[in-house]
Parts: sequence; structure tokens; C-alpha cells
Amino acid sequence: MKRAFALVLALSSAFFLPKAPPADAGKPQREKNRDPDAAELIVSDIDLFWKAYDGAKPENLVERLREEYLKKGSVGLKEFMRVRIGSAENLAKTIEQHPKYYATLRDPSLKVAAHKKAIRACLHKLKKLYEPAVFPNVYFVIGRMNSGGTLTDKGLLIGVEMYGLTKGTPMKEMDGWHKAVLKPVEEIPYIVAHELIHYQQKFPISGVSLLGTAIAEGGADFVGELISGSMINAHLHKYGNPRERELWAEFKKQMDGKDVSNWLFQGDRAKDRPADLGYYVGYKICESFYKQAADKNEAIKAILEIRDFKDFLRSSKYEQRMEKTSGVRDPSPARVTMLPAFFRFPLPEFMIFPKS
Ligand SMILES: [Zn+2]
Repeated sequence: MKRAFALVLALSSAFFLPKAPPADAGKPQREKNRDPDAAELIVSDIDLFWKAYDGAKPENLVERLREEYLKKGSVGLKEFMRVRIGSAENLAKTIEQHPKYYATLRDPSLKVAAHKKAIRACLHKLKKLYEPAVFPNVYFVIGRMNSGGTLTDKGLLIGVEMYGLTKGTPMKEMDGWHKAVLKPVEEIPYIVAHELIHYQQKFPISGVSLLGTAIAEGGADFVGELISGSMINAHLHKYGNPRERELWAEFKKQMDGKDVSNWLFQGDRAKDRPADLGYYVGYKICESFYKQAADKNEAIKAILEIRDFKDFLRSSKYEQRMEKTSGVRDPSPARVTMLPAFFRFPLPEFMIFPKS
């Protein structure tokens, strides 16, 4: 079990100023916390980043980031360093490439703490919908604009710098991908919800197809939306809804393979349409499954505990619906094979893939 989890991690490579860091910020996460009020929402790394940033000059930015931010940060920041930031040099380079953006990031980043109540409400909602839910600590950190969020066995790691979009954001510093994915800080609860759902998913990791990865991501969006009220990929739905059948026909031809490059984690490589439409297709499959299920909580359990993705797709009736005239729905109830309860590990977050 632990080895399986380590393998997952190895494969994964997605306010107000806090007055003081929480007393136990930086301590290892309890393995299975089932109390939504016991999960910590840790924002102390944001404060730490600004102290390091404010004291830096161009010639010592790398050193300041390394000594005053990355080394002094929470266990969550250290995890984010390991799986997403990489080095102080990487972080400094990103700041140097987006100087105006990082300068405008301060105000939105300091508003993250104001969303703690909404985030806590998401945790409670999940407990109501899925009683076996586990609640890890959530770390809000500032990274290098390559990941809105990810997770490890230490908890959920949220890249706050991906949620700094304001009217004043200097878009000239952004490439196409950043223009599409940067979000305002008000959307922070949606990414926490998405990552929290990944934390619940009980999926085998070997032999995961495009279909499986799309369902994992789309399922995190779908159930995340149920607990938070929205999701991080609304722009994909806007594009996908008028083209749902043609997207499905294209996806279907590739879904059994392991090549996800046309559908997921594309960064700015998608040229003629939005990147990452696999989230959309996966969402629609999960939505189809959920809508026809008589017992909605059982449906959520099924979505989080899929064993066989093809079996789940069949149970969702999505394919049949895409091939029927619109509005016709198969009334038979959803069924899906589930994993034994002990078999559990979170998927790595591939949501926003490092572009380098
Ligand atoms: Zn994800």
C-alpha cells in the first residue's frame, strides 16, 4: 500500500496576512482524518513569500527565495518545491519573466484567507455526500506558474499564483496557456474542491488509459462542483457543449490508449482549440452516470471508487446518449464495480502540467 502510494508520487512529476503560522504547520499530516473541522487550511507560506520577495534585490533573489521562503516554509511548501517548483532558480526565473504579474499578485494572495469559510463549507458538504471522506491539510503556497494545485500524502497543495487574475493583470507577460488558465482568487475554493476529490479517488494506477485519466479529472471537476458550487474548467464547457457529440466521436477513437497528449495536460500546446478538453469529456461521463442514478450518494461513491473505467462508461450510458437523438435517456439504473474499501490512494494531480 505504502509502496503503491510512493509509486504514485514518483510518477507525479497539478486574507489577511496570517498573524502567525499555525502551531503545527509543517508537521506531517495525520493519515486518515475524517473530521472536516480538523483539516488545517495553512496560508503562512504566502506571508513568508512576500517577506522574502520584499527583501530581495535582483542580484540576490535566488538566495532570498531559497533561504527565506523555500527553506523556512511549511511541509506543504517543501512538497510543492519537490513536485512542482524544483529549485529557487526556477522560481526566480519565473518571477523575472513575469515581474509585473508577481507585483500585482500580492493583494489577491492576501485574500486567500478570506475564503477559508467557503472552503471549510466544501469539506462539510463532502462529508454529507460521501461519509468515508478523508480530509487532508490544505497548503496555500506561491509557486512558479506551472500548477494550480496538486496533492501528495502530506496534503493538498494549492499554487496561489495561478489565482491572481485581476483587472490589473499585465496580460502582455502571459502566453496563451496562462491567458486561459489564470483565475481570480474568488475561484480558490473550486480548486481546493477539485484536489480534495482527487484525494478521495480509489483508482488503480497501472494501465490507466486516456479514458481513465479523463474520468479521474472530470470526476474531480464534477464532484468538486457538487461540493463547491462551481469548478475550474467552465471555459472548457463553454467550448465543449455546442460540440459535445463531435468531441465524443474523436475522444472515443483514442480513449483506450495511454496517450493523453491531445486531451490533457497540454499547457500551451493546443493550437486550434482550448487545451485539456479531456476534463470536459470526463465530466460529461460522470454527469451522465450521476443524473440517471436513483441514489445520488451511491452514485458519488461509485464515481470515487471506480475499478474498471470501461465498465463505468457503460454504466454511465453516455455513449448511448451521444449516439441517440438528444433528449432520449435510458432509464435503467447505474451500476458499477467498486474496489474494496481498503484499496485507496490518491491520483497525482496532472491538472496543470509543468510546461518546461
Ligand atoms: Zn485534477
